[in-house]
Amino acid sequence: MKILITGGAGYIGSVMTEYFVSQGYDVDVLDNLSRGYIDAVSKDAKFIEGDIKDALRMIDHSTHYDGIIHLAAHSRVEESVQDPSLYWDNNVLGTQKILEFARLREIPRFVFASTAAVYGTLAPSPITEDVPPSPANTYGMTKLTMDMAIESYARAYGLTGTSLRFFNVSGSFNGRRERHQPETHLIPVAVSRIKNNEAVSIFGSDYPTRDGTCVRDYIHVVDLARAAQLALNRISDGSFKVFNLGNGNGYSNLEVVRTIGEVLGVSPKINFAPRRDGDAPELVASSKAISEELGWRPSIPSLSEIVESAII
Ligand code: UDP
Repeated sequence: MKILITGGAGYIGSVMTEYFVSQGYDVDVLDNLSRGYIDAVSKDAKFIEGDIKDALRMIDHSTHYDGIIHLAAHSRVEESVQDPSLYWDNNVLGTQKILEFARLREIPRFVFASTAAVYGTLAPSPITEDVPPSPANTYGMTKLTMDMAIESYARAYGLTGTSLRFFNVSGSFNGRRERHQPETHLIPVAVSRIKNNEAVSIFGSDYPTRDGTCVRDYIHVVDLARAAQLALNRISDGSFKVFNLGNGNGYSNLEVVRTIGEVLGVSPKINFAPRRDGDAPELVASSKAISEELGWRPSIPSLSEIVESAII
């Protein structure tokens, strides 16, 4: 099977590329390197440096793909609120161009990296796919719009589309790990602070949760790749499906920082800081639908193992 992975030089994209190559797929990566790293791209994949908006122009007519895994997007919540133009342009217009590429080149399968951020701040727990989306920031709004665009292309043009709504992703695979600039995610930030004997700031300690700090559902990045493979290979029937993807276990920010301390064998210093704008108190996935329909189960469900893998 020959596939195109957009955003394959980013954290999740480089893991997906590595994973699909290891599973025997013929993988092309399209990435403009605005936020990714060329050295993260598997040497066994073909790398095409370019923008998703230029896919039709850049990728030769004679190249046929059986599917696209579309990961290229900006993903910083705070930035999306401060500079929405960047997000509507890159995420939404870019996705429409990739959908056009799929339509005109008759690529039958499309897997998309959506996010728990589409559910907003008031979702129940655990979150099933029938919870009405209500994004609280521009990032979530653009991802929801992208979901809708894919759904309409599936309905009209017979594309088989799957939107995987990722919850909190961490861990590494074959040396590919979180490498954002700047890094804002809790696990990599806390690992680096604790290793340097610095205090970890926990944003908000007055949420209506068991210890007052936000609760998140962590999933190992390789389990995402396994889910993407199942989604890519589901029956090509021109339908559009949405699946939430998490382990179904919520860990508070305090529990996460303590777990990292345990794995590193140190007692972490903690600084309770004000809330961060747009944070939901609790985001925990129900992955019942993907488990029932595609047979997906997490292979690395334990937070300690996810943290260990992020530290390696
Ligand atoms: N967080 C924190 N300190 C940090 C980074 C993040 O307390 O240095 C909190 C953040 O406010 C949220 C949780 O950790 O409650 C997860 O945030 P992250 O940015 O990792 O992922 P998100 O859930 O926003 O996608």
